[in-house]
Amino acid sequence: MPFPIIPEAKEKVTKICIKYLEAEEIAITGSENVSDNAIYTAQKIILTITSKRPEIRRELSDFTCILVARGENVASYLDLDENDPNYNHGCTLYPDKNNEFPGYLASVVEWENQPDMGVFLHELAHAIMYAIRQLSPNFYSALEQSYNTSIASKTWDRNPRSSQNVEEYWAEGVRMWYYIGEFESREAFKEYDQGLTSLIDDWLSADEIPKTY
Ligand SMILES: [Zn+2]
Repeated sequence: MPFPIIPEAKEKVTKICIKYLEAEEIAITGSENVSDNAIYTAQKIILTITSKRPEIRRELSDFTCILVARGENVASYLDLDENDPNYNHGCTLYPDKNNEFPGYLASVVEWENQPDMGVFLHELAHAIMYAIRQLSPNFYSALEQSYNTSIASKTWDRNPRSSQNVEEYWAEGVRMWYYIGEFESREAFKEYDQGLTSLIDDWLSADEIPKTY
């Protein structure tokens, strides 16, 4: 889930992250418990999905992705409430350039004890939405319009989270664009929601990305 900007968090990323890699301007980090493969896979995901519009990476310069190993806690990396179930799996803090806050995401890299980048992709999509909003002033209103049309005309039974709000609609949309999951195919997803998928297609690559590592 996204979280309001809190510049103080800049000072509060307290855990020592010893692994570090960059995807151009974006940093990827994690403790010694995170597998190297997860870090390389995160890099590949970032570079692939932004390959169509590399300017997204520039908008996220110094943004840091923290990969969270099994037994570690997402909220504690970002100094959020460790008892808040909203932060069980992942969280994104949007950049705030005016306050020199580069933005962070923290995300688990497993699902049901198996290597899985689904949560990472969801959180990355939140950060990318921030970047696109800087690049295209009309983007958010187009997304909002698509969201309103979509929830008025569809049940979203297959993924209720998509109908929660505009941010989740986008982030889950990006995840399903690449990892399908709730749909039989990308074509089926396009048919279900043309508005959302055409916005995704405008900005993000149609290439496949790894789901596991
Ligand atoms: Zn979210």
